[in-house]
Amino acid sequence: MQSVDVAIVGGGMVGLAVACGLQGSGLRVAVIENHLPQPVAPDAAPELRVSAINAASEKLLTHLGAWPKISERASCYHGMEVWERDSFGQIAFDDKSFGFSHLGHIVENSVIHQALWQRAEQCSDITLMAPAEINQVAWGENEAFLTLKDGTMLTARLVVGADGANSWLRGKADIPLTFWDYNHHALVATIRTAEPHQAVARQAFHGDGILAFLPLSDPHLCSIVWSLPPEEAARMQQADDEAFNQALSVAFNMRLGLCSVESERRVFPLTGRYARSFAGHRLALVGDAAHTIHPLAGQGVNLGFMDAAELISEIRRLHREGKDFGQHLYLRRYERSRKHSAAVMLASMQGFRDLFAGSNPAKKLLRDIGLKLADTLPGVKPQLIRQAMGLQDLPSWLQ
Ligand SMILES: Cc1cc2nc3c(=O)[nH]c(=O)nc-3n(C[C@H](O)[C@H](O)[C@H](O)COP(=O)(O)OP(=O)(O)OC[C@H]3O[C@@H](n4cnc5c(N)ncnc54)[C@H](O)[C@@H]3O)c2cc1C
Repeated sequence: MQSVDVAIVGGGMVGLAVACGLQGSGLRVAVIENHLPQPVAPDAAPELRVSAINAASEKLLTHLGAWPKISERASCYHGMEVWERDSFGQIAFDDKSFGFSHLGHIVENSVIHQALWQRAEQCSDITLMAPAEINQVAWGENEAFLTLKDGTMLTARLVVGADGANSWLRGKADIPLTFWDYNHHALVATIRTAEPHQAVARQAFHGDGILAFLPLSDPHLCSIVWSLPPEEAARMQQADDEAFNQALSVAFNMRLGLCSVESERRVFPLTGRYARSFAGHRLALVGDAAHTIHPLAGQGVNLGFMDAAELISEIRRLHREGKDFGQHLYLRRYERSRKHSAAVMLASMQGFRDLFAGSNPAKKLLRDIGLKLADTLPGVKPQLIRQAMGLQDLPSWLQ
């Protein structure tokens, strides 16, 4: 029977961030992860799964010592443009107008994962158990008991559920989940464009679809996230390259000229999820285990990283004060603050999704006027940009 202070189930990006953040706190940490990460070759073509990483997450990853490695393959973007197809509604941002050096980075998920994994490997107080799968969990008064599939047994004062959207741990703890279908599937692919992207992230709303072009290091390469009704996404996944390229270039108003697909196309069903509790007796949920949102604003893992930052700060503070950080009573502060942030984000994404759904002419006129006003009225854009960069809601540990 091994004994640790914090057992993290799920060594994805968010779980590993929690582990790295507890390094040096005097606590022993174990990470239980299903899969061993695959190393990313420096000259490999861009991976299909990327994330738009905002300034707040960059701050956290810098604090954790993972950013130098990540930045080797990250592409910085300096501008953002959002518009509705066939209309005058448009809003644009650039970093210089607001005194920032950049607005964010597009990074392959595997690069972030690998950098955090390597950081965790270097820490003597973190034990990485992989490939390993949890089989049983029981919560006692003073500790939790975990059994892995290979028979290994573990006790911990706190179990962190970082095991993703279909969290096994959330189910075992009987935490109810509110969920809803966005009626969108996201098609992801890597696209070569005739015109250079000029380090601008772009998003077009068209009919019932939302199309994001995220700029990669090569000035003519973008990663796309194309959210479409499920049957439309399936049709676009199966279309031959020529038909796909044509439909994509049209949906994107030919902003970057002709597009040509350079990778396979993968499709992800999109579901909104919100766990009724983010904490319980000797349990805290973080990242997708606690909430999932529509990728239209590229905020899912950013929200998860802020859960990690808040939880790290709370555990470290409670431990310094000699408190038993596994008690629900002490985890309530974490729960309150993160539930609030997730609820605000989920509501805003739903608002956007509803506002841009359908082609009712009156509604279309209203949203185009809204976009135009947001683009021109003084004071609106600085607020929006700070929100997108995660600077409005920065956990105290990162301030
Ligand atoms: C199409 C798409 C585009 C997106 N774009 C963005 C974006 O631009 N910006 C952004 O911020 N977010 C984005 N997101 C969201 C982001 O990808 C997720 O929020 C993020 O990956 C969640 O990370 P996580 O560590 O919480 O969970 P996961 O990445 O799901 O990690 C969970 C880990 O737990 C492990 N695990 C699961 N069960 C067990 C078990 N029983 N035992 C042991 N280990 C287990 C898994 O192997 C996995 O490694 C996007 C999502 C989608 C679908």
